[in-house]
Amino acid sequence: MRLRLPEERPAEPPTGYKIAHPMLSQDGTRAGFTGVSLGGALPYGVLDEARCVYGLRHRAPARLCDCGFHCVHDRAAAEALLCTGEHRAAVLLEVAVLGAYIRFELGFRYARQRVRRATVGPCACGAAAVALADAGWGRPGWRALAAACAGCVRGRPSVSLASFARLAGEGLRVRAAAVSAGAVSTGAVAGASCGAELGVPELVAEAALLQARLDWFQSQLVRLGERGPGAPPEGPPPQG
Ligand SMILES: [Zn+2]
Ligand SMILES: [Zn+2]
Repeated sequence: MRLRLPEERPAEPPTGYKIAHPMLSQDGTRAGFTGVSLGGALPYGVLDEARCVYGLRHRAPARLCDCGFHCVHDRAAAEALLCTGEHRAAVLLEVAVLGAYIRFELGFRYARQRVRRATVGPCACGAAAVALADAGWGRPGWRALAAACAGCVRGRPSVSLASFARLAGEGLRVRAAAVSAGAVSTGAVAGASCGAELGVPELVAEAALLQARLDWFQSQLVRLGERGPGAPPEGPPPQG
């Protein structure tokens, strides 16, 4: 005898929360995410379908397997996961649960997902993030990214939050988490604490990021110029 789960037919896709690492494709043209535990080996797009992490030929979420996307019902429960050391660099996602799902007390395991919003925590230095920069690890074909402020991004490969959203597509919204005044020891980023809305602080942050990138770009040009005959066959870069 088979026990059947009660069926649900929600009018709207349920909303869930989870944490994940932002990822940028090797060629820099696509953005996505990868999970922090089970399924972490398979980066996914903003709108994507779960595949069995064990490579079994069934549709996720299979009842007798633990594959499929996972999320929790409660935003605070997902945020709590960001407190652990190994998850500090992850971002908070709000998702729409699509397709077949299995409901648990704390969340869902499900077949398809649309990531609606990503909230990026502060840079490791404590300042509000303006970019997602190379985190120093990845998956084949994908670099993991982590929050960076304008001061810390330097020459690392990076994308602004707005660029990440554009590359991810599907209307994804990406914002920097507000930095609480108590968490910031210098006054330099106090203006960023108003957070979510696009305003003067965000534009100032974008400008600072552009300036930091320009400074780095110029230093690279100078370095290439100094190389002389060893320069690439296309010829020397334009001189200032
Ligand atoms: Zn499976
Ligand atoms: Zn920083």
